[in-house]
Amino acid sequence: MNLLEGTRGIVFGVANKRSIAWAIAQSLAGAGMRLAFTYQGERLKENVESLAATLPGSLLLPCDVSSDAEIDATFTALGREFEALDVLIHSVAYAQREDLEGSFSATSREGFRVALDVSAYSLVALTRAALPLLEKSGRASVIAMTYYGAEKVIENYNIMGVAKASLEACVRYLAADLGPRGIRVNAISAGPVNTLAARGVRGFMGMLQHHAEKAPLRRNVELREIGDTALFLASRLSSGITGQVIFVDGGYNIVAV
Ligand code: NAD
Repeated sequence: MNLLEGTRGIVFGVANKRSIAWAIAQSLAGAGMRLAFTYQGERLKENVESLAATLPGSLLLPCDVSSDAEIDATFTALGREFEALDVLIHSVAYAQREDLEGSFSATSREGFRVALDVSAYSLVALTRAALPLLEKSGRASVIAMTYYGAEKVIENYNIMGVAKASLEACVRYLAADLGPRGIRVNAISAGPVNTLAARGVRGFMGMLQHHAEKAPLRRNVELREIGDTALFLASRLSSGITGQVIFVDGGYNIVAV
């Protein structure tokens, strides 16, 4: 399948081989896209480097999304290699561990700020920095990762639910703002997947089990299914879709009792 032959993308959020961002990268590269990867700090560099090396022609750049200077440096470096950017994958989230358990009313001002800065504002900052390259594409697609905790209360998800609600609103406002310039912006709301970030939420393994029992498909989603939905959103197959949150959760969100 060469749906994305000749296109270029950048992927934010690979930490290891279980990362959703890595599953998305494999789907995009499998359809012919050349990719740039960013990594958050030296600690993760080696992991991301060895994964990126399995996809020939990939670029590797450092980027902490809470730093405007690093974001600028990333897109300056990217502009030297890519003349246009067709896809931007935002698969990044962070909250302090103590804000992912217990009482939501205990969330500190700093915990709130950090979670929303890294998990929601970063989509705005990255998209803005990427604009000159995205506009040159003529068919660009920005894709963010979200979760049902943006809409409904999920035990221990706490501040991350608030951050995801903000992220989803950012998707809609960016889509309205950038649609006239030919740029689409959407989010994928994935069911729970056992990753590094997910294990930071207290009681996550119980959530996985509950989801598999209640979802209409009676199982958890596979990473490949999330990657392939990103492939759809990245390709011309979705050219009329923008500002949407698409669930890839085995149907969990339609069930009430
Ligand atoms: P992950 O731990 O593999 O990925 C999270 C990524 O965020 C890591 O690569 C980490 O380096 C990056 N990150 C955090 N702070 C950063 C910063 N300041 N600068 C740059 N990068 C930073 O976990 P994942 O589950 O693959 O998470 C990817 C996305 O998917 C997140 O937005 C997450 O909320 C979302 N999501 C996850 C699930 C799930 O169950 N795993 C479900 C729905 C949505």
